[in-house]
Formats: sequence, C-alpha cells, structure tokens
Amino acid sequence: MDQKIKLSGRTITAFIISIVLCSIIIIVLIALNPGLQFWYLNAENIALAAAGLLLTVFISIIVQFDVEIKQMKEYFKNIAVKDPLTSVYNRRYIDENIDRLIKSISRANSILSLMMIDLDFFKKYNENYGHEKGDNCLKNIAKVLTLSLKRDNDVIARYGGEEFIVILPYTDEKGANMIAERLLKNIKDFNIPHEKSEVSDRMTISIGIVTGGSNFSLTGDDYINKAGDALLVSKQNGRDRYTLLNI
Ligand code: GH3
Ligand code: MG
Ligand code: MG
Repeated sequence: MDQKIKLSGRTITAFIISIVLCSIIIIVLIALNPGLQFWYLNAENIALAAAGLLLTVFISIIVQFDVEIKQMKEYFKNIAVKDPLTSVYNRRYIDENIDRLIKSISRANSILSLMMIDLDFFKKYNENYGHEKGDNCLKNIAKVLTLSLKRDNDVIARYGGEEFIVILPYTDEKGANMIAERLLKNIKDFNIPHEKSEVSDRMTISIGIVTGGSNFSLTGDDYINKAGDALLVSKQNGRDRYTLLNI
C-alpha cells in the first residue's frame, strides 16, 4: 500500500496555518483601525487575543483530527479487502460482494460474466526464476489485467495464489469473449520470459468464463464453480486460451 498516514504532520500544519491566519486577522484589524495600535498595552486585550488564538488552534486541530480519523477508517476498510502483493481486491471482497452483485444483476434483468484466470506453468516459473521474481510476475500480471479492463463496474481480484477473478457486470458472451481475447493478447504482449513454459516462450494465462444472469436462484459459488470448470477445459485443451460456459 502506497498510502501513508501522516497524522502528526497534518495536525502540525493545521496548527501553523491557524496561527498564521490569526496573526493576519490581527494585523489587518490594526491596520484598519489606528485606535487599536497600542492594544497590547491593555492586559484585557492580550488575554482576549490569546483566548481567540487558542480557540482557533483548538478548533482547527479538532477538525483536522476528525478528517484524519475518517481517512484512517477508510484506509483500514480498504486494506481488509485488498491483496497486499498486487493491490487488487482479495478473495474476501469477492466472497462478501458477489451474491449481492448477482441479485442486482437479476433485478435489472441483465447479464453477468465471470472469469477465472490462472497463470500457466507458474510452478515451473517459480522453480526456474525464484519466488521473488514469481511475486513480481504476479504483480505485473495484475497490473496488465487491471489496465485491460475499461469499465468502472469491472472488478478484478486475486482469488488464490496465482488465480485471479474478473467480474464483468452487464457483459454478455460476445463481450466476455472479446475481453478474454484482449487479456490473452495483452499478457503475451507484456512479454514476461518463461523458458520453462510448455506452451510459449513467455508467461501466458488460461481463462474460464461463465456467462449468465436474470436468475435469482444462482449464487456466487455457482458462478465461481462453473468458471473453474471452464478454466479446467482451457487447461486440458492446451492452456493459453479461454473457454466459455453458460449458466
Ligand atoms: P497450470 O498451468 O496447470 O496452472 O500449472 P501451475 O504450475 O501454474 O499450477 P500449480 O497449481 O501446479 O502451481 C501453482 C504455483 O503457484 C505453486 C506456487 O509455486 C505458485 N504460487 C502460488 N502463490 C504464489 C505466490 O504468492 N507467490 C509466488 N511467487 N508463487 C506462488
Ligand atoms: Mg492454479
Ligand atoms: Mg497455474
């Protein structure tokens, strides 16, 4: 996660800004009213100015603190559903949201496609290039997949070690096939060398797609299991390809 929490830094900035603002207000007041020029000779005026200053600082810190608490809550909510390695959503996010998504697709009488994506011969990749390069490869694959999805509603998640799930709401067979072809191509074009792969000289993926909708009785597990079946067919038919099944 790139996001950093700068609690004290921001609060100090708020503190400094409020002092500067207060000083500017006092200077402007003095400039506008010559009668106030020697206000500081009066103890009551000094006490009032100090109280005003303190109050401004106090309010600005409280406001800033509140903003930071909200940001922190958002941050922790976010890391609970994000995969730390690739920064895409994690399995928990999918498990917690997929049934709700299917219901809303059914209510809209629309269609949904779900893809299960698995890296080809990734065990051999790790054995050949090492675990660190393996992790780096996963990061790059996640990046390419993410950049290949164009719609705001599309969701990508790392579902297991080297498995990703892509959810494409309002996407029929034709659309899903087109996106699968794009994903296969973009991963190949990214050209991650994989000399131990039995299907290519570079890293490739296999995809299982399930398309269906408008059926309130279907659950997330139904879609995920069927996509898993489709993925298996892609693997059995030689990898580096996609298979689509209807549900
Ligand atoms: P297939 O083409 O049939 O999918 O073969 P495969 O080797 O990709 O699949 P298999 O399930 O045999 O191996 C998956 C490997 O993925 C096992 C492990 O080495 C690797 N892996 C899983 N999670 C991680 C991870 O977080 N980091 C790294 N570097 N490797 C991982
Ligand atoms: Mg796998
Ligand atoms: Mg694999």
